[in-house]
Amino acid sequence: MKRTVIVDLLRRTDYGAAVLVKGWVRTHRGSKSVHFIALNDGSTINNVQVVADADAFPADLFKDITTGACIAVEGQLTESPGAGQSVEVKAEKIEVLGLCGNDYPMQKKGQTFEYMRKYAHMRLRTNTFGAVFRIRHNMAMAIHRYFHDHGFFYFHTPLITASDCEGAGQMFQVTTQNLAQMPLDEQGNVDYADDFFGKPTSLTVSGQLEGELGATALGAIYTFGPTFRAENSNTPRHLAEFWMIEPEVAFNDITDNMDLAEDFIKYCVQWALDNCQDDLAFLNKMIDKSLLERLHFVVEHDFVRLTYTEGIRILEDAVKAGHKFEFPISWGVDLASEHERYLVEQHFKKPVILTDYPKEIKAFYMKLNDDGKTVRAMDVLFPQIGEIIGGSEREESYDKLMARINELNIPMKDMWWYLDTRRFGTCPHSGFGLGFERLILFVTGMQNIRDVIPFPRTPKTADF
Ligand code: ATP
Ligand code: MN
Repeated sequence: MKRTVIVDLLRRTDYGAAVLVKGWVRTHRGSKSVHFIALNDGSTINNVQVVADADAFPADLFKDITTGACIAVEGQLTESPGAGQSVEVKAEKIEVLGLCGNDYPMQKKGQTFEYMRKYAHMRLRTNTFGAVFRIRHNMAMAIHRYFHDHGFFYFHTPLITASDCEGAGQMFQVTTQNLAQMPLDEQGNVDYADDFFGKPTSLTVSGQLEGELGATALGAIYTFGPTFRAENSNTPRHLAEFWMIEPEVAFNDITDNMDLAEDFIKYCVQWALDNCQDDLAFLNKMIDKSLLERLHFVVEHDFVRLTYTEGIRILEDAVKAGHKFEFPISWGVDLASEHERYLVEQHFKKPVILTDYPKEIKAFYMKLNDDGKTVRAMDVLFPQIGEIIGGSEREESYDKLMARINELNIPMKDMWWYLDTRRFGTCPHSGFGLGFERLILFVTGMQNIRDVIPFPRTPKTADF
């Protein structure tokens, strides 16, 4: 007999049909006459209830049906008398495929997320993580669908890079040399001539620079891939290995860029509301009671758009009115997450797109405004998260870009290929980076970024 996946089984109404289900036992309770087994196979948050008459099976069998055990059940699809489910399976044959001892780490309910992180390989089997990772999959699908339907091409940029100028974060080095015996040149510096690539290389912190080459050829591209930052920041919003989505569009200015970011993110949130109802209902009940309300709010309201300078004024007024921030605030400083969240959660009570930051706190490739002080940067700030997107209109003038590079003393020796975009048929263009896990945090209501990626990489943690 062919197995029926539980998500499909729960929709069926052909009572009396013979069915085969397989999955892991969530709970098992029994009396002298009848046993109830809640079975889950990962296809949905919902379990199917298996009902087994005690005297139809050897008594020993039931001892093996413990939480976490894997079983196959053949039986009859029946209408369920119980509330909350429409069908159940009346068992005729039960086979234990995999026993599960009482040292199974996900046995008890209500364990903390911190505890579960130590067993990240097993936490996938819990309701919460099942919901999170089904939603994560759905968000990936939404992203590809959005860009495909809007004429963007999925563009693959390298993970190993020889450019170290982006400045987006500390990089992980890539080498095949024996670290205990790095060859040195005459000056005593590491000699990379014999290393795999013949030069220093690292894992990428962003696919943007190559993405710009794609956009200035194909018109509109997006990347969606792993990104690495060796920042030693142990926060609930930073990973050392995360996934980033980076659209880049020729001829878009900063306003087009903001329109794209807002439309795109609303599409993704709406996709979750449309396609992940059961999982969201579970998370709304168990994790964050205002989750659904927040998701609806984001799709239904325009994002507030204001300049960094206006934002600073609001924050300074807040300080004057007695609000206490941990970090001081004045024109020129980079906003901390507490500042971003104040603007979003307390002042506007809406997502905010902040633009025109001081050039000193933004990357060299951002287009300089006429004031000579600010650049056409945009950060999208979200409730609970802070910065979810960072982007800009790019400096398309070769001379202005070079002036900025020289001003900052950026090593551009290996970056001639990037500068060629500005030498051969340069054009206005814009793009942004969305941290995939920050989007998942927002959509699931989870609090810690380590809990929205299956196997998190953070300082001192690379298990599994
Ligand atoms: P932050 O200020 O929060 O550290 P950033 O300004 O360094 O972020 P960008 O270089 O602008 O980040 O990267 C674009 C997007 O990638 C950010 O808006 C964020 O969503 C995401 N992101 C950046 N760093 C990380 C990280 N270490 N872990 C997870 N997501 C990240
Ligand atoms: Mn940023």
